[in-house]
Amino acid sequence: MDDEPCTMRCAEHGERQATFVCRHIVEGAGRGFNFAVSDDDDQVAWPDAWCDECNEVYEAEDGWSEENEAVLAVTAICDFCYMRARERNFHHDREAYLELVEHSVEYLKKRQAALRETYSMGDLDHFSWDQTSGQLVLSLAGERAVVAEIVFVGSISSRSGTWLWSWANPSYLEAVKAPMRELRERGLELDLLPLAGACWQGDETDGWEMTSIAAFVLGAVGAYRSPGDDGFSFMIMTSVGWAQ
Ligand SMILES: [Zn+2]
Ligand SMILES: [Zn+2]
Repeated sequence: MDDEPCTMRCAEHGERQATFVCRHIVEGAGRGFNFAVSDDDDQVAWPDAWCDECNEVYEAEDGWSEENEAVLAVTAICDFCYMRARERNFHHDREAYLELVEHSVEYLKKRQAALRETYSMGDLDHFSWDQTSGQLVLSLAGERAVVAEIVFVGSISSRSGTWLWSWANPSYLEAVKAPMRELRERGLELDLLPLAGACWQGDETDGWEMTSIAAFVLGAVGAYRSPGDDGFSFMIMTSVGWAQ
């Protein structure tokens, strides 16, 4: 399959990014949604995908080749149509997912309350983060008060109304996003679509839920939401201490 990023004209969504899937999941439902995992940011957001039936060929023959690719009848669809096809076909374990969200939200709520109390965070008046140092600095009246080590979870774009995991976003440095790939692994292993899919339609509540899951899975001590020009970036704090 062709990995070149390119645009296409979708009859429904207009000029969009092109993605490539097997013919069976363009219209189908419940057929499975399989893809190869890559750590290459440019390719990872919309990986080429195929149904369970095609996946049998993929696994039996150890990947796609010029000989077996005809099975797929590769079809280009736009990124919005891709999200929809994924939603219809991925074998999502909804019950396990909702349970994980509930546990995680509870976990983060407790951590945030403890942080607020220990560091009087409600009184601090300035927050600034830096990817290179991997730190979030909280200040009071221009003085550094508290320093946290951070890992970026992802971001919500209010323009496109989507959530994008940090691991699929080339604008984050590797050092401040690498641990987040563990969530993708878990999503693939346990069939949790929101964790396995790089980008999907979501709002701020979804952003906090993903951040809660990240905090719970990675044992974070807190989280922070940073406003940007076009939505919010979410990060977890892996450790926190008084500024020296
Ligand atoms: Zn197929
Ligand atoms: Zn479309």
